[in-house]
Amino acid sequence: MIHNFNDDISTPEKFVVTLELIPGRDFSGDAIDTIKQISQDAYNDGRITAVSITDNPGGNAALSPDAIGREILDFGLDVIVHFTCRDTNRMGMESRALQLARMGMKNILALTGDYSGKGFGGRGTPVFDFDSVILTSMLNDLNKRLIKTGHSEVFVTGCAVSPFKYTEAESWVQYRKLQRKIEAGASFTITQLGYDIDKYEELLIFNHENNIKIPALASLYLLGKGAANIMQQGKVPGVYVSKRLYETIAKEYEVKGEGPKKAIERLARLGVVLKGIGYKGIHIGGVHKSFDTVAAILDRMDEIQHNWQDYREEFQEEQNGRFYLYKQSAEQKNGMSKQDDIKLKYTDGAHYLFLRTAHDLFFDKRASLAPVYKKISATLDKSNSSWMLKAFLEDPFKKLMLSCQSCGDCGIQHVGFLCPESGCPKHTRNGACGGSRDGYCEVHEDKFCVWVRAYYRMKRHNETDRLTATFVPPRLWELKDTSSWINFHLDRDHQREDKAA
Ligand code: SF4
Repeated sequence: MIHNFNDDISTPEKFVVTLELIPGRDFSGDAIDTIKQISQDAYNDGRITAVSITDNPGGNAALSPDAIGREILDFGLDVIVHFTCRDTNRMGMESRALQLARMGMKNILALTGDYSGKGFGGRGTPVFDFDSVILTSMLNDLNKRLIKTGHSEVFVTGCAVSPFKYTEAESWVQYRKLQRKIEAGASFTITQLGYDIDKYEELLIFNHENNIKIPALASLYLLGKGAANIMQQGKVPGVYVSKRLYETIAKEYEVKGEGPKKAIERLARLGVVLKGIGYKGIHIGGVHKSFDTVAAILDRMDEIQHNWQDYREEFQEEQNGRFYLYKQSAEQKNGMSKQDDIKLKYTDGAHYLFLRTAHDLFFDKRASLAPVYKKISATLDKSNSSWMLKAFLEDPFKKLMLSCQSCGDCGIQHVGFLCPESGCPKHTRNGACGGSRDGYCEVHEDKFCVWVRAYYRMKRHNETDRLTATFVPPRLWELKDTSSWINFHLDRDHQREDKAA
């Protein structure tokens, strides 16, 4: 192997280039031959450190990255396998991780994943037993087992982060989740895709300010007119392409043969700017036909990299109406930034205060009455009467207040006293996925993301520091349809001492 991904990202002076490949629904034929040819050419070219292979992208069934990845690894090119939480539960995920270890593929990009798409017979079950933070933690735990059994090669787990969030709440939650991912064991990060240099830079400043030293690769995409149109409409979760950029690209395509050339030039220019501002590398997507395009981009980057500052301005977006963590638009300076557009209902504040007060009174193990609640819980449990508490008090109350789904392992305290089961289609307990847009949920586009609501509810009381402050362990499925109140007091839920961080 010419390059080893982990070695390259650990080498201080090395600028790393990786390439994202997307298998389709076929297991053989032209599409697979093309992926293999691109990989073979990338290997021969020598400038690509690794290819990353997507895992059922967009939630749609495709050839497993594990299968095609192994074939690519066999001819000497390192591989990063995308690993999402959408399609299997924790057993399936652990089993897949063991399989990947056995196959010698230990570079993993751990992702929560897009929501389920349609497969045979309709939409598939969105599993989301874990979120990306918990998946990272599971791989970290597997690493300990590997080391214990004498293996020196362990999983190199990376994470995604999206700086391309334009509300205060989404930005805040994304960065806090990044910190949780790193604590859980992520050792590199790849950004989502956007064409806004101030947002790309925002991540680097955040990392610097928070002493985050893991290498950051920036995602770039060869933007043709069709892809730009889809992305500009927000149809690719987490990806940001502005209307202005789409209109520029559409104009370029009006001149025959110009569009593809301009796309290569744009990508090369953005690549050198990202290198100039300090990214460890770039992660190129959108190349589906031939490696020649990638070679042309890299050649052009070599030619223009010394003038990178000249191109920076081209990637600066209109900032008014959008939240930037370190740059203030005129609107932000006047106290009228995008976050002010998100007005929660008046009842949201009252709902939060009521549930937080109730929680502090009844579900704080340091509270003076905590031993009494524990005793009552133990008595009900012993006499097999806990169902009465659940049926006549807990269920009516929590269904009304939270649309409770009786998971039995309550996590509302982690999400601003909103239910992660009924409120988030991906059941995230460690922060939002990357799919929200302008504060709205990736799946229910007419509803605010539950984390955005949680953030603004807590901000009113200066309590945002409590949001995504620590690792939240996975939900315990064995508690389903039991009383979460009793489970809490009898130390059975995820907050019991051996589980909570
Ligand atoms: S987290 Fe579980 S117990 Fe708590 S409100 Fe949601 S479904 Fe009900």
